[in-house]
Amino acid sequence: MIGPANLDYVAHNRGGVLRKGAMKGIVFSGMQPSGTPHIGNKLGALDNWVKMQDEYDCIYGIVDWHALTTGYEDPKEVGRQSLELAMIWLACGLDPQKSTLMLQSAVPEHAELHLLFSMFLSLPRLERIPTYKEKLREIEGRNLTTYGFLGYPVLQAADILIYKSTHVPVGKDQDYHLELTREVAEQFNRLYGQLFPITQTVHTVFPVLPGTDGRKMSKSYGNTSSLTDSEDMIKDKVRNMVTDPQRIKRTDPGRPEVCPVYAYYQAFAPQEAERTAHECRNALRGCVECKLGLVEPVQAVVRPVREGVETWQQQPDEVARILHTGSQQARGRAQQTVTEVREHLGLWQP
Ligand code: ADP
Repeated sequence: MIGPANLDYVAHNRGGVLRKGAMKGIVFSGMQPSGTPHIGNKLGALDNWVKMQDEYDCIYGIVDWHALTTGYEDPKEVGRQSLELAMIWLACGLDPQKSTLMLQSAVPEHAELHLLFSMFLSLPRLERIPTYKEKLREIEGRNLTTYGFLGYPVLQAADILIYKSTHVPVGKDQDYHLELTREVAEQFNRLYGQLFPITQTVHTVFPVLPGTDGRKMSKSYGNTSSLTDSEDMIKDKVRNMVTDPQRIKRTDPGRPEVCPVYAYYQAFAPQEAERTAHECRNALRGCVECKLGLVEPVQAVVRPVREGVETWQQQPDEVARILHTGSQQARGRAQQTVTEVREHLGLWQP
């Protein structure tokens, strides 16, 4: 049975609640339902999410409003993709008996906190965030000079702080956003009195996995190897990966440190990585052969997730129920924080 009755809340942490046996702290992290998650999401974040479930009080959010910041013109798929994302999480090992799995838009208190934070956050500070400028440059064909897109990291700060999270497991691309979250907490505490913890970022050993084109793998860049790709798709994508652009002929020595294929060896076949680097530097192995050696190690990571998703696809109502229950639990906690926030600000509460 999954449900609030199973979750034994025992200890108070500055007004928040910690789950029994999860005394190391409170974890929040989120993922956008903006396309199928990829192997970078798994290596950079999901693997840690699964590990932390036993020692922390974990809340994992499908951040559907965040998906609208870039996908506002065509939001029709976001609902379906939210359910699909939950299935992938479950297939990767997130366990609703251990963690709270919730949908951001089902907890409107996130929006209230976002609004209150936006009152004191400076516009130039948000415009200076390097990932903001980078995404404006990299994502083509969409107008992202919007209020919502600039506010993306403010909403993220609200997602994290509304649960008084102490730890946030994310990929390296989120470092600037987490820095802002800490600043928001400090500013709030200074202006209105101590309420929020200063959260720590938690990285995996592979906090940035490159995409098939060598840029960071990202759903918004269309360079991903997704966690539900078929065997044939994986083969094609691995075979078409870019390599060191200066290695033109088979006899040219290569530079593994700039080659995404080498990064994949480190991530998916670490026992082969050193030999691969040596053979690349000394032109002992061609890039095509090198890529072929990667196909099976990538399949080995994707196959169990794809098969797990196929099983969950037979039970969409159960997945919806898990998200509904998790969102209700999360909402209770979020409401408690928002009540405290209003008190700190001195707002009149009818
Ligand atoms: P995307 O950038 O593909 O849209 P999200 O923004 O939904 O992915 O990120 C979900 C989580 O996955 C975040 O913690 C993010 O840091 C992590 N992540 C995303 N891309 C990568 C990557 N290429 N390597 C490692 N971690 C990543």
